[in-house]
Amino acid sequence: MTKTKLIAGNWKMNGMPDDSVRRTEQILSFVKSHKQALGDKATVLLCPPATLLPLLHPLVKNSPVFLGGQDCHPQTSGAFTGDISAEMLKNAGCSSVIVGHSERRAGHGESDELVAQKAAAVHRTGMTAVICVGETAEQRAKGLAEKTVRSQIAASLPVDTLYADNTVIAYEPVWAIGSGETATREDVETMHGFIRDFLRKKFPALSEAQLLYGGSVKGANAKQILEYENVDGVLVGGASLNATEFCKIIEAAL
Ligand code: PEP
Repeated sequence: MTKTKLIAGNWKMNGMPDDSVRRTEQILSFVKSHKQALGDKATVLLCPPATLLPLLHPLVKNSPVFLGGQDCHPQTSGAFTGDISAEMLKNAGCSSVIVGHSERRAGHGESDELVAQKAAAVHRTGMTAVICVGETAEQRAKGLAEKTVRSQIAASLPVDTLYADNTVIAYEPVWAIGSGETATREDVETMHGFIRDFLRKKFPALSEAQLLYGGSVKGANAKQILEYENVDGVLVGGASLNATEFCKIIEAAL
């Protein structure tokens, strides 16, 4: 059975109301006009900044386009200035939340343990956690890519709340993010095969979880990447900010 591919766009800290509504409407119109072809083949997830969720949710409500958050706090509420809870994101219309993105691990010093707490918070609300892992260029050069990813996965998964439908693993080699340098077929298939085996052995509940690749995915390379073994979708940063380009990526999954 072929798995549904997840095409997820991470807008990061980009977007004001006008351009975001325009982009969302263009994506929505493409998705609606390809609804038949999309069928069970692909799901589309947009992860805009939290400020835009109340604006975008009415547009995509009851459509095949879903909304996600980019991060959340482990707690439900409280004195955590600047943070946002999984409950708040769910209430704003999200169905998923990205946790452990390398920009948060590096820029905010997030540990695997914190990522696991955040993922558990996402699960607590019934949403899907998109848990990001990936090695740096230096780790890869030292032959530590698999070891790094294995230890990130082992410590970033909330062991008590996991099941295949509420957890997606996104393999995003740090050196491929925003660099224009995409991992080769061999790099991706080797790592995804390794992750799949590791999940089967250590986290059987996630044996069939979706595995996404992220790192400089664009319209021109999406079809090829989506055909790689054990790639069940893509997490797209830069190219998700251009509706035409993002629609090409969606089209690549059809
Ligand atoms: C990302 O940040 O998740 C990402 C994959 O970015 P880009 O597509 O720009 O490499």
